[in-house]
Amino acid sequence: MSSLLLRFTHSAPEITALAADVAAKFRNVYDVAASVPADKATFATVIQPIGDAWASLSAASEYCQFPRHMSPIKAVRDASAEACKMLSALNVELGMRVDVYNAVLAVSKKNEALEPEQRRYLDRMLRDFRRNGLHLPEDQRAEIKKIQEEISELAIKFSTNLTEIKTKLPFTKEQLEGLDEDFINSLTKSEDGTHLLISLSYPHYFPCMKKAVRPETRKTLEAAFQSRGIVENTPLMQRILILRQRQAEILGYKTHAHYITETRMAKSPERVREFLTSLNEKLTPLAQAELQELLTLKKEECARRGYEFDSRINGWDFRYYAQQIEEKRFQVDHNELMQYFPMPVVTKGLLAIYEKVFSITFEKVNVPAATAAASAAADANSADIPPANGIWHPEVLVYNVRDTATQEIFGQFFLDLHPREGKYGHAACFGLQPGCELPGGQRQIAVAAMLANFTAPTKDQPALMLHDEVETYFHELGHVLHQLLARTKYAMFSGTRVERDFVECPSQILENWCWEKESLHMMSQHHQTGAKIPEALLDRLLASRKANAGLFNKRQVLLATFDQTIHTVMGGQTIDVANVFAELAKSIWGIEVTPGTSMPASFEHLVGGYDSQYYGYLWSEVYSADIFFSRFQPEGILNSETGRAYRTSILQPGGSRDAWDMVVEFLGREPNDAAFLKSKGL
Ligand SMILES: [Zn+2]
Repeated sequence: MSSLLLRFTHSAPEITALAADVAAKFRNVYDVAASVPADKATFATVIQPIGDAWASLSAASEYCQFPRHMSPIKAVRDASAEACKMLSALNVELGMRVDVYNAVLAVSKKNEALEPEQRRYLDRMLRDFRRNGLHLPEDQRAEIKKIQEEISELAIKFSTNLTEIKTKLPFTKEQLEGLDEDFINSLTKSEDGTHLLISLSYPHYFPCMKKAVRPETRKTLEAAFQSRGIVENTPLMQRILILRQRQAEILGYKTHAHYITETRMAKSPERVREFLTSLNEKLTPLAQAELQELLTLKKEECARRGYEFDSRINGWDFRYYAQQIEEKRFQVDHNELMQYFPMPVVTKGLLAIYEKVFSITFEKVNVPAATAAASAAADANSADIPPANGIWHPEVLVYNVRDTATQEIFGQFFLDLHPREGKYGHAACFGLQPGCELPGGQRQIAVAAMLANFTAPTKDQPALMLHDEVETYFHELGHVLHQLLARTKYAMFSGTRVERDFVECPSQILENWCWEKESLHMMSQHHQTGAKIPEALLDRLLASRKANAGLFNKRQVLLATFDQTIHTVMGGQTIDVANVFAELAKSIWGIEVTPGTSMPASFEHLVGGYDSQYYGYLWSEVYSADIFFSRFQPEGILNSETGRAYRTSILQPGGSRDAWDMVVEFLGREPNDAAFLKSKGL
């Protein structure tokens, strides 16, 4: 088959009109569902039509929303951004429909015999309506609305305060000893020309903390950096915590963390706590050994330079000595390494690996080239309508994914890998059409896109990839496969619509293929000589994965534990966040905070949507390690049997089953942290 399933040809006015049409259709479906009298309310009359709408309107909805990320035409991106705002407001509106909630409630009271996925759909709708407070009396609903508005205002203020920090610290060139010339030359000078100015931004902070030789310099910078927002943001965070707790109590939850984790794989803060405590205890010996090593380096350096030795690693010492360990023990020349990762070789290897592991076949879709006029307009940046061939840019590649055994097409995806003006700035996967059943019962084929910003090839050289870009490539294409290989009945559970603390897991599992010699050789080759990656370079790369793993992971445990701690305080009291953090840093990390600072005042994750969820980073990493090291690695990283079992247990169900149950089915036991710890050298 060589045809596109979705064609992105919509002009700006067409996007605006289509978005209005999509919104009207959704409202109509919800109106009809709400109008079903209680005695006629069944799954077939209320829920199924809503499910059908989400399946059949999804493509139109993405024609409106996706172009803001990728269209080379500014007018199209702008119209798409507007459409996106309107459609997300619509989403909130639909989730607050009390009349639809009542109809769904009437369905649930019928206790019909339903298929498991239908039962889950019904339960999910009820749960989400209740989480919005629709089961509560009107005055309580009004209070929740007020709370949410105040929280979102405070969160915006919190972030704005941080972006408005313009602090610059003056240092002499001597005080910046250890930093390289390019860095020094990039700095602006103080007005009298005697000092160089260091800001609190990442591109200044990190190099200084890793490279500045003089402890006083690092200490001054660390104290300023960890005090960002301390005066303005501390009361904002304290107020947000009280509001979140109040909201949880109105909705009937013990704490905010209970409210959040209810919809996650972890399910409860107690389980998160157990997970973090276990990890913390087991990481302790490794972290202590690493701390000893840092101390030894510090002692030697103090003796050599005549600094006073205070017998401990301070907040401003950690990154400095950790960097020395990395350079000493795990030095990988990434410039040399990337000569072995020309993009065409990586792509070919990646696709071959995924074909073998998952028993699928990739087939390039040949899209007719855009007309000469369209290409010329695109080149001149003067186009105002997208090319008629349905592809937004000539660099974009399209593939079908077939099941090798049945030859059935499971999905189609777009690959758009190089930077372009106005394009989305990171690497990500976008689900464009859910693979699910359509109203007539036939299957809708899933469509997804991967956007990235890997260096483009030049006339004389292919694009060369850094190892971590190769890893990103595997990761994001992993999300694409998750989108395409899921086989659910309803759009609600399609593809990556799984619990949020599990969604990264399938992609993190696939990153492991970038750390095994067998697969690395399949995706690499020197772009000029055709040689394999030298063994010694490969060994250093593989060893570098363990660098300072104890201390870095302990720091993650610290941040996650802090997040859980402040979100499990009951009863509206003001929390001394700086003090809570300082105590936990001492007991968990073993490195004390710099006196007078408050890291929480700049901990944006906790106001910006990761509240009670910071543990998710470690959670999915630990369980992805379990899945990889307990099955794929021992059974063979190219073993199709294992891949098949994985497809069946983990990818195929999408979000139609609990992630925990899927993982248990694949592993044959409950997941644990043993494989993760072993991979980190324990
Ligand atoms: Zn991801």
